[in-house]
Amino acid sequence: MHRTMPGETPIPTPLLCPTCRKPVEAGNPELPFCSDRCRVIDLGKWASGEYRISSPIFDPELLDELEQRRTAATDDPEASGAASTEYEDKRYKN
Ligand SMILES: [Zn+2]
Repeated sequence: MHRTMPGETPIPTPLLCPTCRKPVEAGNPELPFCSDRCRVIDLGKWASGEYRISSPIFDPELLDELEQRRTAATDDPEASGAASTEYEDKRYKN
């Protein structure tokens, strides 16, 4: 249940353009970007692999670590369960 009290001013959510960090108006058709130019720049970054945070599974170090844990905990169900929990934690922190 949500009621807007009389006289209550709705607080606008601050939206920042992911490319240039300028505030973006809520009604902007290019959301979440401030302009078509910034949208294109952002797409270019994704295409060139500059953004790697979204795909931690491709981090060679992490894959190596997981492989080592799997190998170490082959016949120990408790250990392998702990390893998978730690992996989940890592993903959320990243
Ligand atoms: Zn922008």
